[in-house]
Amino acid sequence: MLKAMEPRWREISWEQAINAASMNVARILEKALAGEDLDFQDGLALSAVDGVDLIGVVKVADELRRCAVGDRITYVVNRNLNFTNVCFVGCAFCGFSRGPNSPEAYFHSTESLVAKSIEAVERGATEICIQGGLPRDLDGSYYADLLRAIKSRLPKLHLHAYSPMEITYGVEKTRMSLPAYLRMLKDAGLDSIPGTAAEILDDDVRKSLSPNKLKVRQWVDVIRAAHELGIPSTSTMMYGHTENPEHWVRHMLLLRDIQKDTGGFTEFVPLGFIHSRTRLFHTGRARPGSSLREDLIVHALGRILLNRYIPNIQVSWVKLGFEASLACLEAGANDFSGTLMEESISKAAGANFGEYVSPGEFRAMIRSIGRTPAERTTTYAIRRTFEQPHSDERLPLERMPVPASADHPPLTCLGY
Ligand code: SF4
Repeated sequence: MLKAMEPRWREISWEQAINAASMNVARILEKALAGEDLDFQDGLALSAVDGVDLIGVVKVADELRRCAVGDRITYVVNRNLNFTNVCFVGCAFCGFSRGPNSPEAYFHSTESLVAKSIEAVERGATEICIQGGLPRDLDGSYYADLLRAIKSRLPKLHLHAYSPMEITYGVEKTRMSLPAYLRMLKDAGLDSIPGTAAEILDDDVRKSLSPNKLKVRQWVDVIRAAHELGIPSTSTMMYGHTENPEHWVRHMLLLRDIQKDTGGFTEFVPLGFIHSRTRLFHTGRARPGSSLREDLIVHALGRILLNRYIPNIQVSWVKLGFEASLACLEAGANDFSGTLMEESISKAAGANFGEYVSPGEFRAMIRSIGRTPAERTTTYAIRRTFEQPHSDERLPLERMPVPASADHPPLTCLGY
């Protein structure tokens, strides 16, 4: 089993790694390096690797990353707005939602969300990510009204908002057609959408995770319709629960097919399952999240299968923690995701940890693995490359700040 950041495997070249790999794995990796699309069987073989074959997969993914996007590791300065945690959907993997009568239920006012957005921009944010639960009594015009309220005060701020599940709910509430509803959101200020609510794009797995959630067909329809209207989205996959490697490969190949048609995905974001405080785990139906081996395989496989079509593979530091994130950034990933300043205030008030990494902390971590940090926009335009260290750069004090915490719900900017 690889140990993250262990010098022995960091210093091996991809050529040496291929030479040491088994014949079948080496053959598939050479096919990937030659720019050929891998098929399902190839992906399945790579998803089962360990030992020297795992090193081969990681090293080739890293080389493909280097050729595709270079040595910069990007991040975005953003803020996460989860406007409500009230939700009726009841996903068994969710530790975030509450019933409407729960003492922990909240619904932030539009004024406070606008104020948080203004504060975020003053602190350097270029993106606001908006997602929330689905309350039964949500007003049909809420999603568009919130976009308008923020955009009217901050016209240049990028609004990255509403999962395909929320968009499907908005369509149901307004009884508009999907394209008309998306056009309305776009006119109200929607710039891009999170490709969350994807979990695993397999209806049998989805049924066991959340029977009330949208079906694969609906997720694909929302994404395709958004892309057709010029609204880009991320793409995600939740792993480490009830699924198996076959599902990873099918999921990624489906994303690849969509991207070949639309070109609308900005990145692929694997999201490790956070098991604590979830019904799925506590009823014995899921494993307790992913292992480091799985984290490395999923990120490397994302790079190898999607490389020519989705050039950006993102790590979710909120799900992985910093150490595994850095290991995955040496296994094909090239983006560190966002600063998520939502919890910066509680952190400043003395909490031990929060859902926030400062840009200086991102840059210090990126330099610690010998790469160059760069701040990007949501759609991956480079705002600034930091060739030289700045005085605000320091490594975070907490090595694994959030994922294992039972006190912090796992729904972040990226949700699942
Ligand atoms: S994952 Fe989203 S839709 Fe599912 S219960 Fe949680 S908040 Fe609701």
